[in-house]
Amino acid sequence: MPKNNDYYEILGVSKDASTQEIKKAFKKLARKYHPDVNKDNPKDAEKKFKEISEAYEVLADPEKRSNYDRFGKEGVHFQGRNFTWQDFTHQDDLRDIFGDLFEGFGFGGSGSIFGDLFGQTTRTRGSRRTHKPSGEDVRIPLEISLKEASEGTSKKIKIRLFETCGKCDGKGGTTTICSRCNGNGEVQVTRSSFFGQMISVSTCPVCRGMGEVIKDACSDCHGEGRVKKEKQISVRIPAGVETGNYIPLRGEGNTGIRGGPKGNIIVEIRVKSDPNFKREGSNLKIKVPISYKTAIEGGKVTIPTLNGKVKLTIPPGTKSGRIFVLKSQGMGKLYGMGKGDLLAEAYIWTPDKVSKKAKDLLKELDKEIGKPPKL
Ligand SMILES: [Zn+2]
Ligand SMILES: [Zn+2]
Repeated sequence: MPKNNDYYEILGVSKDASTQEIKKAFKKLARKYHPDVNKDNPKDAEKKFKEISEAYEVLADPEKRSNYDRFGKEGVHFQGRNFTWQDFTHQDDLRDIFGDLFEGFGFGGSGSIFGDLFGQTTRTRGSRRTHKPSGEDVRIPLEISLKEASEGTSKKIKIRLFETCGKCDGKGGTTTICSRCNGNGEVQVTRSSFFGQMISVSTCPVCRGMGEVIKDACSDCHGEGRVKKEKQISVRIPAGVETGNYIPLRGEGNTGIRGGPKGNIIVEIRVKSDPNFKREGSNLKIKVPISYKTAIEGGKVTIPTLNGKVKLTIPPGTKSGRIFVLKSQGMGKLYGMGKGDLLAEAYIWTPDKVSKKAKDLLKELDKEIGKPPKL
């Protein structure tokens, strides 16, 4: 990490780099700190990712860059004291790099930063004076089988969501201009700071930024402009997902109040545990019981895979703990990166009870084979 956290050093560009060069450098680093490439150290990758994003946010904007050049970090203002994902306005660049699918993944499966990053509605400064708050996000847990997680699947889910009220067409009733903000949707707050008087603008608390308030509320939606309805949504789950991944369905969640944009649906994946297979990344493990006879003489045993049963050849003299690797019989990997392996671990099955006859035979067998080596 550069000693002084200089934005130019963080992105590895010169002070006179063009915006194009800065963008190129950011994309390269964003790929490098892709959390899936940094599975060993996701926390560090996340930190690094945030650093380069902060640097890019400032250097990609001519005004912010010029302030930074003149005053250093003191000249850069984020919404809070420090940079957060709320300040990041270049989601499109990330989408270019990683594609839509990427949004739900990353950082140890919790998916938190990309969720925060893409879940928010981006508001370009000055693009509109008033705005309607978007509808709430909905999180839906979805349980799938190991086989579905391996192959990918499509699911239909029934869910109750806020939809536009048909009676008032989402308006909520008749409205009048908000007296608090005079219809601006924003109110100014003045405070003193190191730099002198600072005027900050915040959403009007009375009309919630809409600039108008309800005069006569619609009787169906009581002024909300939306009502709950049952809806069926479909979600495509890619091969290779694991518990903790989530799939964001942007703009498919609750409709906002009085015609506000829709929120998101976030489908949280839970993969059911399987009685036969244990998952280790993209590999699957299975324990295969074999008899004494098969262990000594060799033979064939039938074992399950995710794609049906296969015969496994056990060579003579097989010891407990020996692992047979069945190539590409494991889990499907994300982004179509192929399949993991099935690791079949043989162990010698020991019955709990045996007959008198078996005991006699074993005594003879023991004599014939001999004792195990002494320790
Ligand atoms: Zn209504
Ligand atoms: Zn207002």
